[in-house]
Amino acid sequence: MSSSIAELQALLAQPRQVVITTHHKPDADALGSSLAWAGYLQRKGHHVTVITPSDYPAFLNWMAGNDEVVVYERRQNDPQVRDLIQRAEAIFCLDFSALSRINELGDYIRQAPGTKVLIDHHQQPEDFADISFSNPCAAATAELIFEIIRDLGDQELITKGMGEALYAGIMTDTGSFRHPSTSRNVHLIIAELLKVGIDLSSVHRRIYDSHTEIRLRFLGYVLKDKLIVRREFNTAYIAITKDELKAYESKTGDTEGLVNYALSIEGIVFAAVFIDRGPAVKISFRSVGDFSVSDFSRTNFEGGGHHNAAGGISHAPLDATVERFLSLLPQYQEALVGAALVG
Ligand code: 5GP
Ligand code: MN
Repeated sequence: MSSSIAELQALLAQPRQVVITTHHKPDADALGSSLAWAGYLQRKGHHVTVITPSDYPAFLNWMAGNDEVVVYERRQNDPQVRDLIQRAEAIFCLDFSALSRINELGDYIRQAPGTKVLIDHHQQPEDFADISFSNPCAAATAELIFEIIRDLGDQELITKGMGEALYAGIMTDTGSFRHPSTSRNVHLIIAELLKVGIDLSSVHRRIYDSHTEIRLRFLGYVLKDKLIVRREFNTAYIAITKDELKAYESKTGDTEGLVNYALSIEGIVFAAVFIDRGPAVKISFRSVGDFSVSDFSRTNFEGGGHHNAAGGISHAPLDATVERFLSLLPQYQEALVGAALVG
């Protein structure tokens, strides 16, 4: 038994007041691992609240426990939320590695007296947790949650609802089982989840085949008019203005996955999507092969993430941000052209 598991076991040996939180704009792994962990802890007799810093896409609303999630940005002035964090005996931080990624919630958590537990698979974790399960080799936080429940000796407590939430996290973070992170371990875990009757095609449909008509038309517009390919750098990118988001009634999650289309072009090893979110430009980076977008983002755009999938931010206007991005490419040209041979 790892020392972290033993420490976790000691922490959970009696019923606790628990808060689980995850990153800004949670994706399926962030929300799925949080809700599955909440489901498990509730079954063990703990009092659990899941708090997300912001809202999340409607195509995640089906997950078991979704209706009890507290969305912090909707209740910013509600003292009850801060109170919950202040009173929590255990605070679980899932699928993010730095408290700065969860806005001002991060400050409340830093100051809260409860035991902080990090469960995450991003690179370069910040050292803020009392107990840490950080494994950048894991495909998803949901993979770690499954292993922790199993290592605590409680695999039989995983319900179909928890299993589907975990499956959603692993499915999306592995790009539907295609990224190199899709290990034998991942497939063995899915085999275990199938034992509790998860409906994989239904999860897939609920996540990937639930476009609104306007979202699909937005995708068509972006691919036809906004995708820019720079062959000399094996790079493709897309920049979306505030007006375009408005014209297509863009909602949380509607821009998710755009970056993968840019990366799907033959020969392209580096893709970026820039979204003008008002005060700041949010950036998604993806790569195939050796080129580390996590390093690129950390060095140039205050970001980070994984080797082949990372995000960052820019406080300059959209046009200036794209200009800066383009001006950086020549210094990476060798790596980008080399990556094409490897990737
Ligand atoms: P996405 O492009 O899907 O928003 O994010 C890709 C990956 O990078 C995710 O694992 C996400 O958690 C991480 N990420 C996204 N934005 C940031 C950021 O601003 N800072 C850091 N450190 N990681 C980020
Ligand atoms: Mn994840």
